[in-house]
Amino acid sequence: MIADNLASVRHRMAAAAARAGRNASDVRLVVVTKTVPVEKIAQARAAGACLFGENRVQEAVDKIDALAGQDLAWHFIGHLQKNKVKYVIGRFGLIHSVDSAALAGRIGALSLERGLETAILIQVNISGETSKSGVSPDDLEETLLAVSGVSGVRVEGLMTIPPYDPDPEASRPFFARLRELARTFEGAGGASLRELSMGMSGDFEVAIEEGATLVRVGTAIFGKRPNPGG
Ligand SMILES: *Cc1c(COP(=O)(O)O)cnc(C)c1O
Repeated sequence: MIADNLASVRHRMAAAAARAGRNASDVRLVVVTKTVPVEKIAQARAAGACLFGENRVQEAVDKIDALAGQDLAWHFIGHLQKNKVKYVIGRFGLIHSVDSAALAGRIGALSLERGLETAILIQVNISGETSKSGVSPDDLEETLLAVSGVSGVRVEGLMTIPPYDPDPEASRPFFARLRELARTFEGAGGASLRELSMGMSGDFEVAIEEGATLVRVGTAIFGKRPNPGG
């Protein structure tokens, strides 16, 4: 079932890319494994998935350790508290969810201590919902400039989560706005904003049509989680 779902998601991704005149290879699938047990993650790996995303530090660390040696790459996609940064350094190829210059500063400092540079995205809260983390669009330029002065981190792009809506078309304006913000602020502080992390199970095709380079998909691959939104 996981292999079939994965194939179906990949097929839909390729079709969406084709509709937008984009190369399918320009969009990476982050298989979101929160609440998913290690055996099922291994099944997805066996079915050809190689990039995985988690949103809780402790759960992620346990799984990464359990699956060590199976050649999985991991991205961190959830809200990150400063006191947990030490656990993510060196474990994740990309942190999608940096929402302040202070957090970037902490990531940079601990990366430098370990002789690393950590790739990050800046999460943008386009809707302004108070339940969502992220920098407001009005503060994005200032944040990018501040982060550009931080050694040990490298900004690669932007991430957003639109308000939940069962209609995927409702997400389109939020995705288009993220793309415009990236274009506007490309080069602010020297940042290359080539990565756009946007789109989940309900709306990844629309996100790809609007320029996503990373889509984060869980439910469409593993089925409904026991704890919605968890
Ligand atoms: C859970 C989660 C996803 C995946 O959501 P699905 O609807 O299950 O595809 C994507 N991004 C973030 C930040 C998440 O927390």
